[in-house]
Order: sequence, then structure tokens, then C-alpha cells
Amino acid sequence: METRIDRFGSVREDKIKQLKQLIEESKYIVFLGGAGVSTESGIPDFRSGAGIYNTESGTKYRPIDIIAHDFFIEHPDDFYDFYKRKLIYPDARPNKAHKALVRLERQGKLKAIITQNIDNLHQEAGSKCVIELHGSVFRNYCMDCGKKFNIEYIAAQEGVPHCDKCGGIVRPDIVLYEENLEHENVDNAIKAVKKCDLMIIAGTSLTVYPAATFAQFLKHDRIVIINKSSTYMDLKALLTIHDNVGEVLDKVVPKRISRKNAAAKTTAKKPAASKTKTTAKTTTAKKAAPAKATEAEKKPAAKKPAAKKSGAKTTAKSSSSKAKKDES
Ligand SMILES: [Zn+2]
Repeated sequence: METRIDRFGSVREDKIKQLKQLIEESKYIVFLGGAGVSTESGIPDFRSGAGIYNTESGTKYRPIDIIAHDFFIEHPDDFYDFYKRKLIYPDARPNKAHKALVRLERQGKLKAIITQNIDNLHQEAGSKCVIELHGSVFRNYCMDCGKKFNIEYIAAQEGVPHCDKCGGIVRPDIVLYEENLEHENVDNAIKAVKKCDLMIIAGTSLTVYPAATFAQFLKHDRIVIINKSSTYMDLKALLTIHDNVGEVLDKVVPKRISRKNAAAKTTAKKPAASKTKTTAKTTTAKKAAPAKATEAEKKPAAKKPAAKKSGAKTTAKSSSSKAKKDES
């Protein structure tokens, strides 16, 4: 059998081709990403062998116990000791995965990035359509007066960071164990999943709620899994690629926008998060929810008028030049 020689190589190439094809024929892609999206940026994941849960915490507590609401309230000093050493990576930079997703969004195909990561790397790369399920270490707020602080403020303070206005404890705007996810984030994620014609699930073992359950809202089986290890969804998916997320995405998302893609962009209907507007205001959460909502809202707003404006401009121009001609 001649296929035996190059079996794995050719299979991998086939899969890359298939994924390219799937992306090509899709108009409404949703990306669901986990820690594996950021590992290539030097941020450890939680559950793999070298992950945070399996390495020394440097304290007498287990990492999984530290990242919890009650623990934070009772031992903010131990929490921050661990947090600053293990959970924040202010110097991490976007990798090939983040950059490929920016291209896919600009090509008008990617409508939502649902991420479990708290590292801000999608936004730093330039993505607009990001739904942060677990919050972001880049946003922090005073638990007493609500004043907001950036990551530098947290990193610069020794021990537990305190508010420079009222002295209250400042906490990261991330979802700890025992805490609920923001409703509108989950809503928006589900809405996007329901609308999508292709769902790419990458860099996640799919063991964390609610990410694992999003796929059940799909009305089709157009799921692609890109993950180093296998997941329970592998057999359900249309295509499964066991590889680095960044390398795969870099290969399948064209660097330049093709004519076909450009056409898809202009004809694309309402982007995903336009619905955020209606749900954003119903939030009952006390913290920085509005900031999140506006971030999601910006996406369609920024994209659509831009396209319209340029159209309007050209027609205005041509009509005015016509008027001029008529005058003369
Ligand atoms: Zn304060």
C-alpha cells in the first residue's frame, strides 16, 4: 500500500484542504476557543500536563481552590500571590491563531469569537467580535466604589491591590469558581451559535461549562475541532484536527482577501452581536458588564456603517460631479 508511507502527512494536508473548503463556503462562522489558543503565546493552560492545575502553586493551597470566590474573599493575599505569578501575563503577545482570526473577521466570515481565555489577546490582535465568557485580567475594579483599574495598576501594587480613591480591595473582572457567568455573554454566545453555519472549536478540552454545551444549540453538524488532544466531541464533528491551533489557522485563513471573500463581506447580513444591544441593558450584574456589552456592540456598528458610508460617498461624489458637468 503506497498510502502507508506518507499516511499521516497526507491525511493532515487533506484535513487542511477540507477546512479551507469549509471556511470558503461559510458565511457565518463562530469560533469557540480555550486555553490552547493562547499556549503558543507562552500562557500555560489549566488542564494539560504542564498546565496550572498540574504544576506547583507555590503555596499550600491547590490552584483550583485558589481561583474561587470564597477563597478570594477570605484570603485575598494568598489569592493575589498566586494570581500575579500564575494568571497574568502582561507581556504575552498574540500568536498566529489570534492573527488568523482577525483576518477571518475582516474578511466578513467570522462573526463571533467566544473565548474562555482572560488574557485579552484577541482584542490586542485586533478582533472586535469577542465574547469573553470568563472576563479579563485587563479589567479590574474596586469592590467598594467600582473605580476601574488597568492591569499595570494591579501588577505595580505589592500584595493585595487597594483602590486609590476609597481604599477598597480591587479585584479582577474575571469569573471565579462559585461565581456566575455574565448572562448577556452567555446569551450572545448562544445566539451566535444558533445563527452560525460553521463552528470552529479550538484549544479546549471541552470539559468546562458552559462552553461544552454551546454545540448543542447548533442546527447542523458543521463543527470543526482543532485541539492537540481528543475531546468527547471528536466523533460528532465534521472534521477533527489534532494539532496546534495557530499553525492550522494560519494555513487555512488566507493572508489576502480574495475577490470571492470581499463579495461575501459586502453582502453579509447583520453581524452577530447586533442583538447585544437589546440584551445589554437588561443586565443585573453590578460590575463592569456595560464595558463588555459595548465592546461586543461596537463590532457590527463599526463594520456596517463603514461599508455603507463608502458606498454613500461614492454615489454622492459621482452625483455632484455630474451636477457640475450639467452646470457647465
Ligand atoms: Zn474604591
